[in-house]
Amino acid sequence: MSQTVRIICPNLSCKKVLAVPESARGKTVRCKACHTAIRVPEAQSPQPASDSK
Ligand SMILES: [Zn+2]
Repeated sequence: MSQTVRIICPNLSCKKVLAVPESARGKTVRCKACHTAIRVPEAQSPQPASDSK
């Protein structure tokens, strides 16, 4: 299944919501409206890295 990631354009005069594929995580995409480069955040792990030994 191909999920999409929703990111909001950081350009205050744009703020367009962009849907990018999961495969774009960690990469930089360009807003189609204002062409601002936006970095797609990495996937957030469901549980924090708890190192209990
Ligand atoms: Zn934009």
